[in-house]
Amino acid sequence: IYSLGIESSCDETSASIVLNGREVLSNVISSQIDTHKLFGGVVPEIASRLHLEMINKVVDKAIKDANLSLKDIDIISVTKGPGLIGALIVGVSCAKALSLSLSKPLVGVNHIKGHIAANYLCHKDLKPPFSTLIISGGHTYLAIVKSYNDIEVVGRTLDDACGECYDKIARKVGIGYPGGPIVDRIAKEGNKKAFDFPRVMIDSKDFNFSFSGLKTAVLNFINTENMAGRQVDKKDLAASFQEAIVDVLVSKSLKLLEKTGHKEFAISGGVSANSRIRERFEEELGKRGVKLYYPNLILCTDNAAMIASSGYYEYLEDNTDELDMKVYPNLGLE
Ligand code: ATP
Ligand code: MG
Ligand code: FE
Repeated sequence: IYSLGIESSCDETSASIVLNGREVLSNVISSQIDTHKLFGGVVPEIASRLHLEMINKVVDKAIKDANLSLKDIDIISVTKGPGLIGALIVGVSCAKALSLSLSKPLVGVNHIKGHIAANYLCHKDLKPPFSTLIISGGHTYLAIVKSYNDIEVVGRTLDDACGECYDKIARKVGIGYPGGPIVDRIAKEGNKKAFDFPRVMIDSKDFNFSFSGLKTAVLNFINTENMAGRQVDKKDLAASFQEAIVDVLVSKSLKLLEKTGHKEFAISGGVSANSRIRERFEEELGKRGVKLYYPNLILCTDNAAMIASSGYYEYLEDNTDELDMKVYPNLGLE
């Protein structure tokens, strides 16, 4: 089964062909970051317009790169949510047009399930059940993947997402957009013990997270230092607040593994590209004989290959959609 994936939920216009849910034949990603950078964040109206400009070119290139033609495609998988409403509509409209003209099934895909599926593309041996952590720009979930399409959410953030926390602090400190990759880089040269930031909810009895308290603590600290006429070392700051995030992510994930007894743990979403997070998880899971899975860097952040894979597994269970399918900007994982 050749699945054409289309992704336009945020600021990447992407199309991909994936064979049988596992093999990436092409993965074209047109990023809008350079435009949104000028505004310090994603501007929804601009995102929609740029998706519209790029979508057909990106789909054509994905088919060409895979050495296929339109008639070879078996299913059209597209992100139906969560995401920016105008941005989602562009991808879904394109997918509907293709589905109608080619008479091929339309499969609406949950973007967050897509992030999980990124691991199927990189690890042919990974199969449900396993425990998982999704850390992206807008979401933070701890979940149990019971089967490809049945995911039980056990914990989530009560306020800001993990990536959002990186981005908001980075913006305040003035180190660029998006903040995650830059913090990752400069933290390597900083002292993670320089400042002691709160590990919010690390001892709570549930699997939930809170990142807005950490964000506030870091911002207050910077303001206090600045008022006293002191400059805060950006590298030390990055290393210290990142360590607070990592401690909480690791601690809650280990708690979930204790509960499930799973010997396989997958992380995904843009923040799973983070080198310190990967390093700490490798270390802690290794000690416990749990195998860690994470996607290649390019498949951590938004891409259509993960959508094509997830769509394939939905299709196998007849979870296809009609041409009147809507978009779901606030779609959850449950
Ligand atoms: P969602 O998937 O929740 O709808 P999104 O699609 O915008 O949100 P992703 O594309 O999965 O999010 O990830 C983008 C996020 O990943 C940004 O917050 C970015 O700062 C973060 N990120 C990317 N690389 C790194 C890194 N190396 N370290 C930390 N964060 C990173
Ligand atoms: Mg993005
Ligand atoms: Fe995403």
